[in-house]
Amino acid sequence: MKIDTKLTHLGRGDDSLDVRAVNASVMRASTILFKNHAAWQKCREDRKTKRVLSYGARGTTTNFELEKLLCELEGGYRAQLFPTGLASLAMVLLNYASSGAHFIITDAIYGPVRAICENFLKKVGVEIDFIKADASDVEEKIKPNTKLILCESPGSILYEIIDLPKLCKIAHSHNIPVAIDSTYSSAYLLHPMEFGVDIVVIAATKYLSGHSDVTMGAVIVNEKEWKNFDKLPEIFGFTASPDDVYLVLRGMRTLSIRLQRHEQTAKEIVNFLQTRNEIKTIFFPCLKTHPNHDVFVRDHKGANGMVTIEFADGYSSDDAIKFVDNLKLFSIGASWGGYESLATVTTPPRTATDWSKRGPFVRFHIGLEDSKDLISDLTQALEKIKG
Ligand SMILES: *Cc1c(COP(=O)(O)O)cnc(C)c1O
Repeated sequence: MKIDTKLTHLGRGDDSLDVRAVNASVMRASTILFKNHAAWQKCREDRKTKRVLSYGARGTTTNFELEKLLCELEGGYRAQLFPTGLASLAMVLLNYASSGAHFIITDAIYGPVRAICENFLKKVGVEIDFIKADASDVEEKIKPNTKLILCESPGSILYEIIDLPKLCKIAHSHNIPVAIDSTYSSAYLLHPMEFGVDIVVIAATKYLSGHSDVTMGAVIVNEKEWKNFDKLPEIFGFTASPDDVYLVLRGMRTLSIRLQRHEQTAKEIVNFLQTRNEIKTIFFPCLKTHPNHDVFVRDHKGANGMVTIEFADGYSSDDAIKFVDNLKLFSIGASWGGYESLATVTTPPRTATDWSKRGPFVRFHIGLEDSKDLISDLTQALEKIKG
């Protein structure tokens, strides 16, 4: 099955029934009932190796449908849902953490991951090195105690591109698993496991749900690294609500057409932005001038709706603030991946490279509005900061 057919046909519940609804049903539950003690005992044995109904917090059949769909899309062995994308990243890090362990994390990782490192991992004796966003210096940073490489590509805010086959080859030659935050690609634009990645994290909050009304995260893992991953929500008490899971499943039916439209409109916006002398740099991986553009084209189906600009010399952060305050169709707000356009003044959180002399930056999420309306809006807001 090709991806569009998978998105249409998979994760829809028990298809062996003679009569059934199109969609998977929402099973809300805390307590699950067992006919007798033997059934209860069998379930406790089965859940060690299989995805079975045992207790609501471990997920119900609704959750299992989304986990199966994500595994089918990404080529994973098993998937586990978490209440947010950030919780998913935290659980991946925790799963490999031990006193004396060393982690390598690429510089363009989702910003809040740095707080997990500073406030928790470093305190319990995990050593962390942030490496270049394109992971080009990974080999020299590997140590005998390196237990995990966590990367993000395209990266947060500036969309830096990593050569994943190359990174995985180096990591695996040292027996180190590779995890990626693949929220940018959201199981559609890139399938990291095809390139050797072991663990894929996706914030379902973004494009999978697609409507800015739910938070959720997923970790999709290959067979080799699955060990222990299903214990995490059990040990820490994390779960994902079946109602939220239903919303994500519903959103995913239109993932493909939404992402294609986000990309198309983003390209039109980028063409317009290129004509403006208020702007010095446009960060968008489809541009030939984008670093590692050739790797992006080789591995990805396309771009999503994220575009970041750096204003030209002479424009201050006050100008950038005035610009976003004057936008009418772009709203100011965290997150992205919904149907609506957003714009925020931002600073890329980076430590392996120095961006302190650059900017000001504005990050856009290009929504599903008509591109002509968005361009008019950008034009009027740019005119207001001129001269
Ligand atoms: C938003 C985001 C997350 C976190 O998702 P939440 O559900 O908001 O916690 C993780 N990674 C990336 C790249 C994101 O953009």
